[in-house]
Amino acid sequence: MGDYVIRATAGNGAIRAFAATTGELVQHARQVHHTSPVASAALGRMLTAAAMMGTMLKGDKDLLTLQIRSLGPLKGIVVSADSQARVKGYVFNPTVDIPVKYPGKLDVGGAIGEGYMSVIKDIGMREPYAGRIKLVSGEIAEDLTYYFAQSEQTPSAVGLGVLVDTDTSIRRAGGFIIQLMPDTTEEMISKLEERLNRIPYVTDLLDMGKTPEDVLEMILGDMQLKIVDRVEASFYCNCTKERVEKALISIGKEELEKIITQDHEATLHCHFCNKEYHLTEEELKTLLEEAK
Ligand SMILES: [Zn+2]
Repeated sequence: MGDYVIRATAGNGAIRAFAATTGELVQHARQVHHTSPVASAALGRMLTAAAMMGTMLKGDKDLLTLQIRSLGPLKGIVVSADSQARVKGYVFNPTVDIPVKYPGKLDVGGAIGEGYMSVIKDIGMREPYAGRIKLVSGEIAEDLTYYFAQSEQTPSAVGLGVLVDTDTSIRRAGGFIIQLMPDTTEEMISKLEERLNRIPYVTDLLDMGKTPEDVLEMILGDMQLKIVDRVEASFYCNCTKERVEKALISIGKEELEKIITQDHEATLHCHFCNKEYHLTEEELKTLLEEAK
């Protein structure tokens, strides 16, 4: 089963819902960033949320960024997504290792600690939309639930999970977001609450062979659930040597000259995908001419 996000409605449009399976893209992130189990879980939850939230964007060129800056040993996370559920991201301290919360439960909240989460949407306006909240628990799903209520005035239920295997590879990852539109009835709300209280962890469901469609069916199956879209999700970074060269040109002639005389070469590294770009002295001299 490849990674994908589904979008759905229920309750005659009073509820909108998203669900995702993201094990492969989280595994890819783990491999490129060499993350410890708890860092994989934190990054994986953020990437999963971003993949679903990316599909909420309307324009092809719209971009969503989720950022956490915090005081815990993980220090922070940055992820971004486009409307096609292509995500990328990194954590500030990928090797963080802290005791598990209880057997089988990685302490993501402990690794993140106190801090802030920002949601930035670049939707082609002059100023991007940005919302910022104080972290509730650092467990990410709870923090996003709070963000949706506070900053977007949309009551939501968010479930996110990453199941890390004993060999530290990613066994399953996925999540759901259920959002209430203004015309939700009290009856729907209490029914939803009751379902959400009983539903197993999303990663356990995926591990039992359930699909994102099954997950939404379990929550909203008798509430006129309609799957409206299915988008393939992937880890994708758009960095290229050309972009790196443009960034180098933009630092200016003086800085470039300094690099050439002192280092005779440059190695630049993309935070998002951990790729390294090497530039020789010759290449740097060519860039210097463009920088004039
Ligand atoms: Zn990159």
